[in-house]
Amino acid sequence: MQALTFQDLNLNTPLLNALEDLGFQTPTPIQEQAFSSIMSGRDVVGIAQTGTGKTFAYLLPLLRMLKYSKQKNPRILIMVPTRELVVQVVGEIEKLTKYINIRVAGVYGGVNINTQQVELNRGLDVVVATPRRLYDLVLRRAIQLKSIQKFVIDEVDVMLDLGFKFQVTNILELLPENRQSIMFSATMTENVEGMIEASFKAPEKISVAVSGTPLENIEQIGYKLPNFNTKANLLKHVLAENETYHKVLIFIGDKRIADRLFDSLNSEFPGEVSVVHTGKSQNYRLNSVQEFDAGETRIMIATDVMARGLDIEHVSHVVNFDTPNYPENYMHRIGRTGRAERKGRSILFTTEKEQNHLEAIEALMQMKVPQHKLPKEVKISKELIPEERPRAIEINNPNKESEEAGPAFHEKKDKNKKVNLGGSYRREIAKKYKKPKTRGDKNANRRRKK
Ligand code: AMP
Repeated sequence: MQALTFQDLNLNTPLLNALEDLGFQTPTPIQEQAFSSIMSGRDVVGIAQTGTGKTFAYLLPLLRMLKYSKQKNPRILIMVPTRELVVQVVGEIEKLTKYINIRVAGVYGGVNINTQQVELNRGLDVVVATPRRLYDLVLRRAIQLKSIQKFVIDEVDVMLDLGFKFQVTNILELLPENRQSIMFSATMTENVEGMIEASFKAPEKISVAVSGTPLENIEQIGYKLPNFNTKANLLKHVLAENETYHKVLIFIGDKRIADRLFDSLNSEFPGEVSVVHTGKSQNYRLNSVQEFDAGETRIMIATDVMARGLDIEHVSHVVNFDTPNYPENYMHRIGRTGRAERKGRSILFTTEKEQNHLEAIEALMQMKVPQHKLPKEVKISKELIPEERPRAIEINNPNKESEEAGPAFHEKKDKNKKVNLGGSYRREIAKKYKKPKTRGDKNANRRRKK
């Protein structure tokens, strides 16, 4: 089949000319998939990492639909988690709108708010913002969101992991009900799923997370283990073989547990371990990744949310310290090894509680992860960490009316009440991945979608 070109999409001449100037001829898979979905006016949820072309995937249809106007209030709002990303997205818009008359502003924290207020006051079409600064500007009445027709929330997994839920929810309440909402996330988390269910109307889900992962190139093994301490014991045992395990990337879903493991491994292998998660400063994260990439540290612990965009060469092993709830996250993780023609290796730890997550992963891959026995030298620990201990439930506390949280400060608007129109994400994934035609087929996703 002939590959689609940008000429085949329903774009207009100014956009096509801008793409031509950039030297881009063919849309990436996410761009191809997102274009018609977004043009149809439906809500869209895209699962795609940085580097897939996801920014143009939402910008192209949105700019295609935007009509010239002199109105003051913005019609497109793009919310992203960091100032770097605001700058980057504004840059991408500028590249695409070389031949279009459009007013764009980027707003983010850490700089003078008054200057931004003056800029917004001039009137604009598109605003790109971090949630906290945008919310502050709304409170100052420097910006009105009542004309927003298209709302994009990009890297929502990072946004929620950084603790922006409050600002995001407040902003969602201020947007007109009949808007189109578009979300992009590299990973699925419970929080992301919660936001989709609360704020999106029967969204179309598109995903390119799985495609391109060469499963045949990765040797996978698994261990069934009871708890954190036993996992840490096994990990220390294998990591002692430092020639074989020379560049090890360890994934953990939870940042507190990531820190806990860092302390534990660092005492055994001082100076050999780095850690990255959204609780660390940007500089710290950058240094950790650079040290690991350059081979200055042998082991790096990362949360799933941080895994996106990590482009690290020659990882000898990926260790899944837990079994992710969303099978796609597992595919992301193991895809960090076995790159560029090299054989990769992956180790997966599964507790009894995570057994159903393992089954979902195996169903997605259409293959079993071979299970290994715990080596005799590794001690099974009975000691639980605080996160593993059962939580005490209060019974008959007369001061507490119910286990449920009290009423919200104000009643939510109907549009923001939790209505599950889209159905469970997991059900959807199960349906979608029921019978892949070939394992790791790059185009399988695209075909399945149709
Ligand atoms: P993103 O995933 O949005 O961060 O994009 C990754 C990079 O790919 C950016 O530098 C884009 O300019 C570039 N890019 C986006 N779309 C295309 C395309 N269709 N062809 C070639 N490069 C692209």
